[in-house]
Amino acid sequence: ELDVDSLRGWIRDVPDFPSVGVLFRDVTPLLADADAFGRCIDALAAPWQGVGVELVCGIESRGFIFGAALAHRLEVGFMPLRKPGKLPPPLAEVEYALEYGRDRLQARAGTLAQGQRVLIVDDVLATGGTLAAAHELVARLGGATVGAGVVIELAALGGRARWPRGVPLHALLDY
Ligand code: IMP
Repeated sequence: ELDVDSLRGWIRDVPDFPSVGVLFRDVTPLLADADAFGRCIDALAAPWQGVGVELVCGIESRGFIFGAALAHRLEVGFMPLRKPGKLPPPLAEVEYALEYGRDRLQARAGTLAQGQRVLIVDDVLATGGTLAAAHELVARLGGATVGAGVVIELAALGGRARWPRGVPLHALLDY
């Protein structure tokens, strides 16, 4: 049985980062501990065993770390969803709103087969804009999102409400 809650001991709270008033959850201590990182990947994988995930999409940049390890564990491939200006063409892109301003997520066009079953991964679900944009990007590429996995859900920010109803979203830890 996985003791997911014990992973809290490897997440560091950093007040006023990256700006005043923000409490940043730092996952780098968890990554640096072989046992904690391994248990985290086991726990991220558990809900998706036997549901036919065909590809993991990880969101830049900490979603790459958890997503690539999870793809390896699930024995499927990995596709990065990146910030603008990182990937060469051909690209698909989704623009989305941030608290202040807008951002974009890009992916390589032509990678997904029509209806390919995708699992989206990130480290933290905050306001939910990033994860919702990732879902839209996968749809634009012709993929079928079977769900999303995150390590941390900042539940007070209500991000889950922006995720499509009926699509499973699993978080290991609520803060
Ligand atoms: P959202 O779009 O507001 O849900 O923000 C989620 C994105 O911001 C994710 O890609 C996270 O990596 C990042 N993020 C937001 N808050 C934190 C935090 O406390 N720690 C680490 N990353 C965070």
